[in-house]
Amino acid sequence: PAAEAYGFPLVIGQLLNSCLLTARDNEIVYRDRSRFTYPAFRDRLGRLASGLAGLGAGEGSTVAVMDWDSHRYLECYFAVPMMGAVIQTVNVRLPPAQVALTLAEARAEVILVHRDFLPLLEAALPGLAGVKAVVLIADGVDLPAPAWAAIEYETLLERASPDYPFRDFDENAVATTFFTTGTTGRPKGVSFTHRQIVLHTLACCGMFGASRRRGLGIDDVYMPLTPMFHVHAWGMPYVATMLGLKQVYPGRYDPTLILDLRAREGVTYSHCVPTLLQMVLTVAEARDEDLSGWMMTVGGAALTRALCEAGRRRGLQVVAGYGMSETCPTVIHARSFARDGLDDPAEVAALTLAGAPIPLVATRIVDASMRDLPADGRSQGELVLRAPWLTGGYVADADASDALWRGGWLHTQDVAVRHPDGAIQIRDRLKDVIKSGGEWLCSVTMEDIVAELDEVGDVAVVGVPDALWGERPVAVLVPAPGATVTAERVDACLDAAIAAGALSRYARVGRIAILDALPKTSVGKIDKKALRLLLADGTL
Ligand code: ADP
Repeated sequence: PAAEAYGFPLVIGQLLNSCLLTARDNEIVYRDRSRFTYPAFRDRLGRLASGLAGLGAGEGSTVAVMDWDSHRYLECYFAVPMMGAVIQTVNVRLPPAQVALTLAEARAEVILVHRDFLPLLEAALPGLAGVKAVVLIADGVDLPAPAWAAIEYETLLERASPDYPFRDFDENAVATTFFTTGTTGRPKGVSFTHRQIVLHTLACCGMFGASRRRGLGIDDVYMPLTPMFHVHAWGMPYVATMLGLKQVYPGRYDPTLILDLRAREGVTYSHCVPTLLQMVLTVAEARDEDLSGWMMTVGGAALTRALCEAGRRRGLQVVAGYGMSETCPTVIHARSFARDGLDDPAEVAALTLAGAPIPLVATRIVDASMRDLPADGRSQGELVLRAPWLTGGYVADADASDALWRGGWLHTQDVAVRHPDGAIQIRDRLKDVIKSGGEWLCSVTMEDIVAELDEVGDVAVVGVPDALWGERPVAVLVPAPGATVTAERVDACLDAAIAAGALSRYARVGRIAILDALPKTSVGKIDKKALRLLLADGTL
């Protein structure tokens, strides 16, 4: 056969081939505002592409999206790359100057903006060259469009033809771009190709297949709870669409609405960072709501034992997953959604470990000279990766790209151990490990132990410079409502863990600091960089 016939390109549009036939009646739901079926979704993709082409977008151009999690975002996830253009998912929670910087670096030509983000875009626009058009997303509100917006999103779709001539092209064309959130530094741009997204989608399906108990199937109902601007909502909207699942998009995150949507629409699978799970569980507890039947992958930061157990007490099937912006993101996932064995510490430990590499992912844990460490559950080193969907490097930053790919493996900057059964446990970020008395103290393990104290609401352990020890840990605490915590109490619980052999003997806190709330990054993770600054300048 001719090369064109068997060289079937792995482009995002091919993800729709099956679901448009098999999932004709399944719905894509946006809050209580809209719902339509897969055939209607396909019709809207054609209209969106025709409309965007009319505004000047085409092969190789960048279309930026600034929206809450919605069916519109899903439409852009498909229609924009299917036209051969690049979708930039804009992190709208970054400071305005950084938002402007990311739009400029990605060279956005058409920008779709929700009314809530108009001021953010208005501030950025004067510094942006090459913007051809702005599309306003009014989201059901009758609003006078600013003079610089060409058209409203729904009007654009209404007026455009559903018959856009989508065609195949090179699978190595860039499909998506976004900027890392900068938990530990300035945002860096990464991008992913069609081939990478398609392979990541297939491997994620394989990951559910490799799960010990439940996977994902056609009767599941999906609702993302990690923002769609952040690493394609972990790639799961592509997975859900390829499988033809009913999908529910919650707009702006509000724990009460999230729980209402779960109950009303029968949501069975979501994913989120620990902070959001904590917020959802607080509301569920106040309403005494049973969350049975809901599976939740928790990632982006360590899933603590306390949080895993709190979820399980409500009936939620919580497991850990691991990835990063540079890895598309999913590379490691716990292998079981089991709920039984609620009191079995080994079961909880297995759910909270990051888990096993998903299909096709090669993992190594290495020392500073790239020598492999034994799988003994103790030897700590850096986790390095290879997989077909890892980013090639950072946009316009050759030095950082070289460092990322040192020795032909992607360096995660995360400290990990491998257990004898193959499971990988993320211990800490290299930058957050506390180097004290010649030993590496894992801040995450210390937090896990301190979080078990009833009087502790939230905790972060960070290192501060110390003349004698190099660094000493400080516990920054948010007390539980009405409770008081002392350094003695924290050290007593750490001492118990040291005596049990779970911690190094240096893992005691020199001091504690109390805050009303821990600072969070734009995607809701605890911001340790901010904490270190507060401690360094004496604010804490
Ligand atoms: P940022 O570095 O700004 O947080 P990412 O969103 O890309 O940007 O986060 C990736 C990082 O999040 C990983 O390198 C790791 O430190 C952390 N992380 C992700 N999943 C887990 C997990 N399951 N356990 C512990 N840490 C995790």
